[in-house]
Amino acid sequence: MDAPQDSRIRSIVIVGGGTAGWMTAAALVQHFRKAPVTITVVESSEIGTIGVGEATIPTIRRFYAQLGMTDAEVMQATQATCKLGIRFVDWSGPGSDFIHPFGLYGQELKGIGFHHYWMRLRAHGDTTPLSDFSLGASLARAGKFTHPSPNPPSSLSVFDWALHLDASLFAQHLRAYAEAGGCSRIDAKVGSVELRSTDGFIETITLEDGRKIEGDLFVDCTGFRGLLIGEAMGSTYEDWGQWLPCDTAYAVQSENAPGDAPQPFTRVAARSAGWQWGIPLRHRAGNGIVFSSAHLEDQQALDTLMPNLMGEPLTEPRRIGFRPGRRRQAWVKNCVAIGLSAGFLEPLESTSIALIENGIERLKSLFPDRNFAQPVIDEYNDQSAREMERTRDFIILHYKLNGRDEPMWRDCREAAVPETLQRKIDLWKARGQFVRYRWEMFHPASWLAIYDGFNAMPDTYDPGVESFAIADLSRGLSEMRAAVAKTVDATPDHAQFLAQFPTGLDRSRAA
Ligand code: FAD
Repeated sequence: MDAPQDSRIRSIVIVGGGTAGWMTAAALVQHFRKAPVTITVVESSEIGTIGVGEATIPTIRRFYAQLGMTDAEVMQATQATCKLGIRFVDWSGPGSDFIHPFGLYGQELKGIGFHHYWMRLRAHGDTTPLSDFSLGASLARAGKFTHPSPNPPSSLSVFDWALHLDASLFAQHLRAYAEAGGCSRIDAKVGSVELRSTDGFIETITLEDGRKIEGDLFVDCTGFRGLLIGEAMGSTYEDWGQWLPCDTAYAVQSENAPGDAPQPFTRVAARSAGWQWGIPLRHRAGNGIVFSSAHLEDQQALDTLMPNLMGEPLTEPRRIGFRPGRRRQAWVKNCVAIGLSAGFLEPLESTSIALIENGIERLKSLFPDRNFAQPVIDEYNDQSAREMERTRDFIILHYKLNGRDEPMWRDCREAAVPETLQRKIDLWKARGQFVRYRWEMFHPASWLAIYDGFNAMPDTYDPGVESFAIADLSRGLSEMRAAVAKTVDATPDHAQFLAQFPTGLDRSRAA
């Protein structure tokens, strides 16, 4: 039976038309198709969007698949390339290099993680890198790409992939989808937000041209400013700067490296007080530096960034200041923050768009009525906070394990980390096992990739692996390694794979 008519949400107003705003609009249009719910996006072309956010993790593909979009369609619409993982350069000092793939390592046996077998062989002098047992990492390093098998014969064949995409083209594509499904768009600046005198809920927003927009539910996608959630609703910001020292970025677009096929990974190279990214797209590359302003002057950051672009610059570098952290309450009364307005973690592991996806999923699954029951809001806020903290811990791990000599890096190595992370590191060191909390975005294989990449392996392995003779283990692991290498050999180059998708096509679909 339908819920009482008078308590159902009938109008949703999304303020902000960046990646967060249009992802939310598209997903809600799809979710409420045929239901009597109006969805309006208010965005200001004068203010514009942040214009970065080009590397993703595999969940993005699940997000747009729910909208009925195919990989081919999104790749063509957004000039995308494939991403098998992230290549970390110089994080343990000059010359160090590893890949964090979206995928597994080796095959588990008897419920004991593969890395324990590998550690035992290593203790007997075997020098095969752990990454040779990861198909994702091996494909990435070889510059190859193909779709993963839908029915992998073993965990050896398991890998996943994401996209490097042009963020503004992605927003345009989502906008076309949302508008075709009935979403309205208003291009105007919000001047003020009016709260109901009785209970402090948002009643209307007033645009600078005087128009008033009413709504039952307001979604704040206004970016760092947090116009609704922060300024109007008073949700304060929890600052994580004590753990994550970087607070500034310069972003610049460039040509792709001349003659080079785009690599199927994001490149992040550690610098003296931060790190530099390189993201290959079909039509250009995205570059930027993220750094600690307490350790590096702006000019020094630019002097580091500009000589190391992927190709000739196409734009002027743009400065973006930020505070790592989160809103203490992402949802207050009838206002939910999604995107940068809800918090921000530096883009080292490309997590922001994934946090947007999960915020949207959470909003759909806890969708309120106009009574806005507090337990629903509390649950949303609790899940959001835990997810942000777990993601934060994963990023801090990279700083904690670094092997560089400059002051910022030394400080990060020596500084205390959150207790939730320390527990994980302690168990890992003592027993080679992973602690998994609720709302973790990263699988143990990702933690393993980082521990291994920083050469932070535990001293001991699981005693259960001793039931295998060394010769048998050695033969088994050689076979696994050979199977990975054979698959890599038989896989086409990333460039060949991309050639199937001519770019420039801007198809949009109705919801
Ligand atoms: P914005 O893009 O800032 O959009 C805000 C919207 O609100 C705009 O439409 C604006 O016009 C509107 N608005 C603001 N005020 C008003 C007003 N008064 N009236 C009307 N409209 C208003 N994420 C990833 O997943 N991968 C990455 O590789 C990645 N790289 C990043 C690199 C850097 C340096 C930074 C800072 C972030 C990066 N991110 C990345 C994060 C990513 O850019 C954002 O999560 C994503 O773009 C979403 O932003 P948003 O939509 O929340 O905000």
